[in-house]
This record gives sequence, C-alpha cells and structure tokens, in this order.
Amino acid sequence: MVNFQVDHAGKKRVTLIAGDGIGPEVTAATRRILEAAGAPIVWEIHEAGASVFKRGLMTGVPEETISSLRSTRVALKGPLETPIGFGEKSANVTLRKLFETYGNLRPIRELPGVKTPFSGRGIDLVVVRENVEDLYAGIEHQQTIGVAQCLKLMSRKGCEKIVRLAFEVAVAEGRKSVTCATKANIMKLTEGLMKRTFEEVAKEYPEIEARTILIDACAHQLVRTPEAFEVIVTSNMNGDIISDLTSGLVGGLGFAPGANIGAEVAIFEAVHGSAPTIAGQDLANPSAVVLSAVMMLRHIDEPGLALLVENALLATLEQGIQTADVAERAASVGTQRFADAVISRFGQAPTRFAAREQRARRAPAVVRDPIAPLERSTVGADVFIESARSPAELGPELERLVEGSPVRLKMISNRGTVVYPDNGALTDCVDHHRCRFKLRDLSGDLTTAQLLDLLARVGSAFRFMHVETLQNFSGVRAYTLAQGEDDAPLR
Ligand code: NAP
Repeated sequence: MVNFQVDHAGKKRVTLIAGDGIGPEVTAATRRILEAAGAPIVWEIHEAGASVFKRGLMTGVPEETISSLRSTRVALKGPLETPIGFGEKSANVTLRKLFETYGNLRPIRELPGVKTPFSGRGIDLVVVRENVEDLYAGIEHQQTIGVAQCLKLMSRKGCEKIVRLAFEVAVAEGRKSVTCATKANIMKLTEGLMKRTFEEVAKEYPEIEARTILIDACAHQLVRTPEAFEVIVTSNMNGDIISDLTSGLVGGLGFAPGANIGAEVAIFEAVHGSAPTIAGQDLANPSAVVLSAVMMLRHIDEPGLALLVENALLATLEQGIQTADVAERAASVGTQRFADAVISRFGQAPTRFAAREQRARRAPAVVRDPIAPLERSTVGADVFIESARSPAELGPELERLVEGSPVRLKMISNRGTVVYPDNGALTDCVDHHRCRFKLRDLSGDLTTAQLLDLLARVGSAFRFMHVETLQNFSGVRAYTLAQGEDDAPLR
C-alpha cells in the first residue's frame, strides 16, 4: 500500500498541518526529530482548523491545503479544534471524508518506563476504526423542537473495506487474531452488517483467528484483560470511544498515535485533540505525534528510519525522560527538551518492549457494491409525525384518515416502543411519533402514487418530518420491529 510522491531531488513530499492548541508545539518537535534523523522529506506547510474557521470558511479546510494533499497524498497533521453544537463541520471529518480515508489505525503498546496500573501485562493492540460512515457522517435533522435525529448509515462496502484492512494489518504485523466489536444484538441491520461481513471475509484468512464480541463487553474486557486483544475492528463511533480507552491503558492520550488510511491518501495524526488547557506552555507530550510520524515513515517506505526514531523514543522513555502528563512535574521535561532527548538517543533501543517488526501492508482487495439480483417489494411506510396528543387519541384519528385507502395503520411507536394499540407500556411520550402503515393487500407493492396519497392524507391533519418505506428483500423483512411490535400479518 504505497502512495506517496517523490520530488525531482528524490525527497518525499508531505503536507504538514500544524493544527490548533498544542498542535504547533508537538508537530514542530516531531519535525525536528525527523529532520535530525535525516528523513528525506520535503514539507508542504498548510493550515486547517480554528484559524480557517475564524476567516469564515465553513469547512475549516482551505483549497490550498486540499490541493497540496491531493498532490502529496500524505499528511502529518496536528489536532484541529472542532466547534461544538451548531455551525461548522469538523475540519478533521472534512479531511477524512474528502480523501476517503476509510480506515483509522490506532495502535497502542505498553511503553518502557511509563508506569500504569497495567504495567507488565504486555499490552500490544491496534484498533482499526471505520472512519467515514456511521453516526459520524453527521446526517442530522431537528425533527421537532424537542427531538433531534442522527442517521446511522453503514454500507456493506464500507464494512468490507474496513474488515479487509484489519486483516491486512494483522498479516503485516504478524498478529494471530482479529476481533470484530459491534452492537449487533441491538442494531441488527447496521452493526449486524459489520458482524456478518466480518464473518464472511474472515474465511479468506484461515491463518488468523476471527473473534466477535459486543462492544460493551469489549470495553469491559479491555480493562480486565487488555493483553488478550491484538487487532480490534469496529465502527466509527465505537472505535472513537474505545481507542481513547485503550490509550488510557498505556499512559494516556499523549502516547496514542493514529493513521487515517485511504486507497489514495493517508493522513497521520495523534488520537488526542488540541488540549487547549496546556497549549503554548511547552508541556504537551509529543510522543503521540512522533509515533504517528513513525507510522508515516513506514507508509512512505522508510522502515529503517521508522525503527531508528521509534527505538530512540522508547529508549528516552525507558531512561525516565518524560513529559508532565506522566512524570512528576518537578522531574519532567518540556516538549522541546523531550524532542532533544529523542534526537540524542538515535541508535539506542530500549531493553524491553522494542519496536515491533512489521512487513509492508498489502493493499486490501478492491471492494465493489453488492449487485445481487434481489426481489424487492415495498410493503408499507413509517411516517414520523409531530403531535402533542396522546397515542389513544392519535391512533383512531390516523385510522380515520386512511380509511378507504390501500394502507392501514399497524402501530404507533414513541422513542422506539409501541404505544398504540395500547399494550400497557409506560412510555414517557414525546411529540415525535412513528406511524407504521402497511398495505392491506399482503402480496402488494406500495406504489409512489399510493405513498403520496398516504402522505397527503396524514399531512392534511399532521406535520410529518420523516418518511421511511418498509421493504422486503427477497421476501425477508428489511426493517426492524418496534419494541413490543409483533410480526403477525394484519387482519
Ligand atoms: P484533548 O485535546 O485530547 O485533551 C484532553 C486532555 O488530555 C487534555 O486536557 C490533556 O489533559 C490530555 N492531553 C491530550 N493530549 C495531550 C498531550 N499530547 N500531552 C499531554 N496531555 C495531553 O481532548 P478535548 O479536550 O476533548 O478536545 C479539545 C479539542 O480538540 C476539541 O475542539 C476537540 O474537538 C478537538 N479534537 C481534535 C482531534 C483531532 O484533531 N484529531 C481529536 C480529538 C479532539 P490535562 O488537561 O490533564 O493536561
């Protein structure tokens, strides 16, 4: 998986984004270490993040940065501040999605000299996080004044790409197992797709043990027996959360590197953010960005330099030279002195936990959209309406509105639980109701005209916000039931 550009002088071109908060300090320290190591890199320095948002650019990523990355195909990036709540998109997510860096690799290992409650357990794992789909696609709609919605879209293609990447990481790093962590028991169609895809792809890697686990159990096991995990593949939000957890196992965010991998572009960055409370004080730990740069050196085919820098960093830590996030403040060194210490240890290696041997990673097989010839039928629709009225009032009113039409009301749910017909659930209702209508003719296929007629009838009395058709794929229900709903055909 080699994708980088070399200039006329034989140097490898890398886009450097210093970032916000502690970003400029930790990227400067990293750049000095790489330059001292003699890395044949020419840096193209560009900006993204807070300064760009302040200039009024809503994406946080200016065109010059995008065009540099389009050309170099490799970036080393400091953290970018994300505005919270309304307003601009995250510049990080913009970069990941723009360059389709679908895989986020977040390795963590026990570090020599960094004492944690887990010291001596030999933790050495990598979280492979899907990076562009799931809830972080940020497809959100305010439904009513009191109800907001975020769509969790996961594709078969996206799942297959991340699962294949995870197995290729395992092969390159000589790992024996890959664990797929999902919430497939609750989200059977989205998280379940990841699990089913994993089980299929795993058959192509018989030499690697394929395990599945629920993400909550995974979080529990990661704290009890983290040394039992090697590669964890998971969806975007799950991966974001558990990779912060795993970084805590080995000393904290200051030590957790990351790589955003796409078929064409790779962006290397620490897991941590801009840590505004310690910015500008020479207090930040640059290790996470240095280790991200080590991953980058391997990516641009400089494995010898990667080993030199990684071992020097590990030797520095082992010899007790540490920043204030892990050492006593009086005994700690600042960001730049830590970088000097790494540079002065080139050629040294730690006595324990030396850098892991790695082979170049193969590019995962190309994945195409599934094109299985499916028989599809639409058997009804969910119409989400706004109303402060009780389900006992709403049900008969909706039944009246669709009288004489091809559909009938099957049920109303509120926050996922059936509230009409009344089944005794104590649901604390909000003003956002899902009204499930199904064709009276069980063998029928709801037409667009019938759907529009349904919406006109419901819309004559209620505001509707969201409509989902109910489909069967080859006769199999392709939507979930509400809590308390049965699958019996309507009479
Ligand atoms: P954070 O920046 O990761 O910081 C959380 C805490 O972790 C810091 O306050 C600091 O703890 C510690 N920390 C993180 N990195 C450190 C380092 N290199 N050295 C020493 N200590 C370090 O998380 P946040 O405060 O939630 O987020 C701040 C901003 O960063 C937000 O705008 C967020 O959106 C953004 N962010 C960006 C990225 C990215 O660019 N990829 C990732 C995550 C968050 P102490 O306070 O105890 O010193």
